[in-house]
Amino acid sequence: MVDLRITTLTGREAMLPEAAVAAFQQNLRGPLIAPGDERYDEARQVWNANIDRRPGLICRPVGVADVIAAVNFARDHHLLVSVRGGAHNVAGTCVCNGGLVIDLSLMKGIRVDPVRRTVRAEGGVKWGEFDRETQTFGLATTGGTIADTGIAGLTLGGGHGWLGYKYGLASDNLLSVDVVTADGQFRIANDTEHADLFWAVRGGGGNFGVVTSFEYRLYAVGPVLAGLVFHPFAKAKDVLLFYRDFSSATHEKLTTYAVPMTSPEGAKVVAIGVCYDGPLAEGEQLIAPVRRFGSPLEDQIRPMAYTELQSMFDPGFPPGNQYYVKAHFLREISDDAIDIVVDQFARVPSPLSLPFFQQTGGAMQRGHTAYAHRDALYNLVLVSEWLDPRESAIHVRWTRELWQALQPYATGGVYVNDLGCEADDGADQIRAAYGANYQRLAKLKQTYDPTNLFGHNQNIKPAL
Ligand SMILES: Cc1cc2nc3c(=O)[nH]c(=O)nc-3n(C[C@H](O)[C@H](O)[C@H](O)COP(=O)(O)OP(=O)(O)OC[C@H]3O[C@@H](n4cnc5c(N)ncnc54)[C@H](O)[C@@H]3O)c2cc1C
Repeated sequence: MVDLRITTLTGREAMLPEAAVAAFQQNLRGPLIAPGDERYDEARQVWNANIDRRPGLICRPVGVADVIAAVNFARDHHLLVSVRGGAHNVAGTCVCNGGLVIDLSLMKGIRVDPVRRTVRAEGGVKWGEFDRETQTFGLATTGGTIADTGIAGLTLGGGHGWLGYKYGLASDNLLSVDVVTADGQFRIANDTEHADLFWAVRGGGGNFGVVTSFEYRLYAVGPVLAGLVFHPFAKAKDVLLFYRDFSSATHEKLTTYAVPMTSPEGAKVVAIGVCYDGPLAEGEQLIAPVRRFGSPLEDQIRPMAYTELQSMFDPGFPPGNQYYVKAHFLREISDDAIDIVVDQFARVPSPLSLPFFQQTGGAMQRGHTAYAHRDALYNLVLVSEWLDPRESAIHVRWTRELWQALQPYATGGVYVNDLGCEADDGADQIRAAYGANYQRLAKLKQTYDPTNLFGHNQNIKPAL
């Protein structure tokens, strides 16, 4: 190895002496990957192939000691840093250009305590892995709807999911986290220790340190009554009006989603999705209006294993495609917003793209954490997906136009985990993600990360 060109926290280019890198490597159990290493190109890839960044170094810790060594190394050498959990974030915030990536993908430990109904999972775990372990004991907690998503990024931003109506956000079910903060200290944060930090990491994103493990509360879950009912796109407006009325009446009992989409056969359709966890007879009664409404093309709602539900959307969002996302929180779905979605979806430039109404009410409205959107009832996520990177401008334009047209009907808040690139969105979107909690988070940032070492994400600037 020779001296290494690296990007610093202030964005300058600098040279890292060979001896410093060698000493860092010796201090690690896990691998350290530099440009030129045969593992480098695979290690810098993320789920969204539209992101193409070249880090200066990629460190893959296998335990807390490695994380502490990486944080100390980054701080001592003033390096730009990004932290990688499941690498599913659409803006690719986990990978930086020129700096050090602290990549937790080898930290996969999961330990379920079936008696206390808790689980401790490390920062590199994905929801598919998490659900498999917990469902072995018939247990689960709210988690993301795509198995390939990391528990870390999703939970730190809040964590919406099919069980949210009943059990709140993923982060509402946290009992404790282990965090390595910017000073290299290992801290346990929960209701009694570092309670301010514990408040901040539940909705404040990756701003406060590297979370090496998460402890969650679990519940007996499944089989669930769940699935999708498909209608022809010609009826899209009626279906979305029905969805609006149905979902607002039942949001304490069911999680429901609505999705205009293109079928694998190429036909535009609109789907209503439901998840009910409880006595099946009660579930059937609750979802009966969804089965009865209109003349569905297909009704796929049935009792299923929770793990089956949790992987239902996976084929639609494989790693390696091109993605772009914008999102709005909504308090209600207005007639005008429905017209805009239907009209714009009729002209969607990719059969893989879709607007996705994800219900966020019910128990997700309770809780006192840094998550700032308790009053929202839906997260409307506009997911653009395509194959040819040369077409990016077309798909980004479609997404942004739809997002802008919907702005008057939204709360003005945005889910931190759906933020696009700051360059696209402007700093006001970052503030919109933290809402009324921004100032309190900025003060805590000053306490735990005064130099903004963990700034390559949903960046809260430290406040004095
Ligand atoms: C198709 C699609 C479906 C989605 N579905 C859902 C859903 O159902 N519910 C939902 O809530 N969200 C959903 N999301 C958004 C998802 O929550 C974010 O993409 C989230 O950032 C992914 O977490 P990750 O660990 O995989 O991400 P990464 O890309 O690895 O990390 C994202 C950021 O999180 C921080 N981070 C990650 N790991 C750590 C750590 N251990 N310590 C400190 N900081 C860390 C870093 O700042 C990093 O930049 C979806 C997104 C897409 C594109």
